[in-house]
Amino acid sequence: MATGTSNPFDLAPKLVTSFIDGQWVGDQGGHRIPTFYPGNGQIISELQEADANEVDRAVRSARRAFNDPKWSGMAIEERQSILCRIADAIDANAYELATLETLNAGIVRRDVLGRQVVRAAYNFRFFAEVISQQPGQVWQQNKDYLTFVTRHPVGVAALIAPWNSPLALASMKVAAAIAYGNTCILKPSEQTPLSLARMVEIINEITPVGVVNLVNGRGQTTGSALVDHSDVDLIAFTGGTETGRTIMQAAGRRLKPAAVELGGKSANIIFADADQERALDGALVSIFSNNGQQCLAGSRILVEDSIFDDFVGRFVERARKIKVGDPLSDETEIGPIASARHREHILSYVDIAQSQGATLLTGGKALDRDGYYIEPTAVLAPSNGDRVCQEEIFGPFAAFVKFSDAEDAIRMANESQFGLVGYLWTQNVDKALRVSQAIRTGLMWVNTPMVRELRAPFGGVKDSGLGRDGATSSMAFFTEEKTTTIPIADVPLRKFGA
Ligand code: NAD
Repeated sequence: MATGTSNPFDLAPKLVTSFIDGQWVGDQGGHRIPTFYPGNGQIISELQEADANEVDRAVRSARRAFNDPKWSGMAIEERQSILCRIADAIDANAYELATLETLNAGIVRRDVLGRQVVRAAYNFRFFAEVISQQPGQVWQQNKDYLTFVTRHPVGVAALIAPWNSPLALASMKVAAAIAYGNTCILKPSEQTPLSLARMVEIINEITPVGVVNLVNGRGQTTGSALVDHSDVDLIAFTGGTETGRTIMQAAGRRLKPAAVELGGKSANIIFADADQERALDGALVSIFSNNGQQCLAGSRILVEDSIFDDFVGRFVERARKIKVGDPLSDETEIGPIASARHREHILSYVDIAQSQGATLLTGGKALDRDGYYIEPTAVLAPSNGDRVCQEEIFGPFAAFVKFSDAEDAIRMANESQFGLVGYLWTQNVDKALRVSQAIRTGLMWVNTPMVRELRAPFGGVKDSGLGRDGATSSMAFFTEEKTTTIPIADVPLRKFGA
């Protein structure tokens, strides 16, 4: 295991290829893509893009592994042991995995070590537990027959991951896919292949050959070759809404099940009767965690008018004190934005907001140093209909809007194309229940930010996605139900031609 004293950059491989059939694919030439350390903008590694032939090899490997009954028909106890050993191996390699994630995605390493890697390991332990509690169904309404339902793995899964939190998100999909006896091909984002390349290598020390494969490359090439492959049985995608639509079209053409977890522009509603200090902490956590680059971000902060000025003033005061800097340093609270292009995208919203009459409250500029750093930013938007309140910016950028009462807050929260999560702060129980149920999202957090109960469904409504993760939902997606009917009495049959 690598330790804190080694040079972190030594952990990054010079070239990342695909991992197929239990081994790294050799240097095949072809298109290469540099990957950058967002902390200084330097190239740290190169990725060799998998073309359609290589994707086909990965799918064939996954198919062979799936067709082997030793895998797809494995006893639950043995599968649980594999999942738990993967979790242990992730824990044992936590420092290396966290460092690779930080080098590529720019997330503060202390946070990756304390949260994302812990979660990645837990995802495997979680599914090890869940598969031992799989409920069955038996129907006996008709006294002459017994009808029972069994669940079977679907087959070869294509798993497509975004760049913003590769370990935590991709591990959930890999764990769920293999827990139910599927095999898979993981395609990380071309921006952040490093931590997932290592994770797949670690997993392959434990799983049979071909159960977990990896292909790297851009979405329009490697990604579309994967989702369009005729021998892929299901697709689990996490990423942007527009890409999600493309994935659903590909899935529709080939009639494959697909689950898409997409973008968000979640409302964070602060009522005057909330515990103000807790709501302030929660608002800062929900917009600035993970450098603000998370689908769950509470990026539209709706504040009741009687406390608006005070709350916004205290938020701005705290935002100005946030330590932005080197993501490898334990002192840092917010690291760099993941890419130069994404930093430009985020900063472009300062002009967009101001052109629609918004006031810049704090931040709004790049830091004058190497790397893709920006100041934690907040604007005061005149209306919830403004672009800064409607479009996903995906960075440390909060938009504040004022509301008058609960009905006004509900209206504004629902005035969005997205519906991933929502936050709500009040000490009034009736209000908490009423408002939380009136907002159209997949999940609401009341008086707390971002607590994930993995057993419960997670996913969005509207343009935030289709499908859910969670104990029951993942089982439904990664298995197929089969109904079997057997007579349990002497049931005479009609006798055609007798
Ligand atoms: P993206 O849609 O650009 O890319 C996601 C993945 O899809 C990448 O691996 C990419 O290479 C691949 N891809 C792109 N085009 C493809 C195609 N035509 N066919 C197949 N694959 C293709 O998203 P991103 O910029 O990497 O991630 C940020 C987005 O992800 C944000 O919108 C964020 O809200 C969303 N996200 C959602 C969740 C969630 O759980 N709902 C979690 C994290 C991120």
